[in-house]
Amino acid sequence: MKPFIVADDFGLCEKHDKIIIELAKKKKVNAISVLVHDELSGKRVNEVRKMRDYLSVGLHLNLTMVLPKIQPIGSIKTLIIKSLLGSLNTREIKKEIFSQIREFEKVFGTLPDFIDGHEHVHILPSILEILSKRVVEEKFSEKFWIRSPVTETMADLYRELSNAGLKVLIITALGSRAKNKLNRLGILTNKNFAGFFSLKSPSRNFKQKYLHLLTLKKPDMVIMVHPGTSESPTQNKNHSNEIRAIEATMLNESGIYLT
Ligand SMILES: [Zn+2]
Repeated sequence: MKPFIVADDFGLCEKHDKIIIELAKKKKVNAISVLVHDELSGKRVNEVRKMRDYLSVGLHLNLTMVLPKIQPIGSIKTLIIKSLLGSLNTREIKKEIFSQIREFEKVFGTLPDFIDGHEHVHILPSILEILSKRVVEEKFSEKFWIRSPVTETMADLYRELSNAGLKVLIITALGSRAKNKLNRLGILTNKNFAGFFSLKSPSRNFKQKYLHLLTLKKPDMVIMVHPGTSESPTQNKNHSNEIRAIEATMLNESGIYLT
């Protein structure tokens, strides 16, 4: 797999989306992961459709955030605990996964090039079980992949831990199991991953660390980014618009040109 810089959360708000579209046009990102919902249509979707020959477009499976006519199944913490206790409502989750894949197809006219999850929800064991079954049954492209949020080497893991702290360990533990399952099933996935940060507010060395991230040129690596604007009306206490705006500026000013 080629290296990807994936802009997550496309569809969250028109103002963020505009920034992501500009970055994709300038080849600063070569993949976007889309939150589907009832109000995702119009100009921003047409802009994405025009870039389909060089821009990978994935489904950002969302089970944890309120969006137009989408009610979350629970917070990520609740879902992790319920998943470990085996008490998730799998019928409800199955319905939601199927409906988001169908909605993506309706909006873009094709199945997604890849699937990942908002807050990495797709790697939870019972959720991945449902998703991977669906993927095996559905006619996805031969190049279709599911994202793994797991680093390849100890050095990569150390970098992510120093950028984002303990959450990286929890995601790595769950993600390693998920990666093994994907490999067993023959579903493509990335070998390496980067891009964890504490997203509530920019940390002291955020710019320096982000710059380092953008210089990583490793094969088969996915770098997760969240560019956007501070002028967005969406206010999420766990993910500041200020960080999204810094990310957009740094990507814009970088020498990155992805072909
Ligand atoms: Zn997300």
